[in-house]
Amino acid sequence: MEIIQIPVAPIGANCYIVSEGKEAFIIDPGGDAGKIIRAAKNFGVRYILLTHTHFDHIGGLNDVKNAFPEAKTAVHNLEKEWLYSAGLNFSEDFGFSFIYEKEIDIELKDGMKLDFAGTEINVLHTPGHTPGSTCFYIKKSETCGSPVLFSGDTLFRHSIGRTDFPGGSGRKIIESIKNKLLVLPDNTVVYPGHDETTSIALEKKLNPFL
Ligand SMILES: [Zn+2]
Ligand SMILES: [Zn+2]
Repeated sequence: MEIIQIPVAPIGANCYIVSEGKEAFIIDPGGDAGKIIRAAKNFGVRYILLTHTHFDHIGGLNDVKNAFPEAKTAVHNLEKEWLYSAGLNFSEDFGFSFIYEKEIDIELKDGMKLDFAGTEINVLHTPGHTPGSTCFYIKKSETCGSPVLFSGDTLFRHSIGRTDFPGGSGRKIIESIKNKLLVLPDNTVVYPGHDETTSIALEKKLNPFL
């Protein structure tokens, strides 16, 4: 499994392109759609997965979906309507008005599994940063020794997501991290929505919020 990390405008959120052989999926096309499309253009893109719907994680979604119309857009059902409200997804506050132009293909729920290249992507609902925050976990793949987790704005390297936005909850984010993420294998590599990668073992040891 190959993972390309692309920090995207406007505020440097991490977009990921995850591929196995010829298949790929994209996580959080937050902006700079041209860069994302160029990096993914040689793959069959199966999914566009959203960890949540803040503007910095969805700003390039319309262009990326248009470039890969066969890719299924997936978002937690609690945040579905945020894609259609520039107020709820905060794009309005940042001077551009983002509204998703298409229908959602997959409404995510905790415990769902999405088929991908002979393995599966596990859907973990981790509310706290936002009500529908979702992490994606892959136990193994043909070409990847360690499990991988895409943690959105829930868990960062030695930090956690903000909970002072509407719909945020400081109690829920800690519960989500402890009950859903810290129970994953220690060698799980964590790819967060901002900043650098980390691992479950490192966060158990060094995260001052946990
Ligand atoms: Zn966020
Ligand atoms: Zn963010």
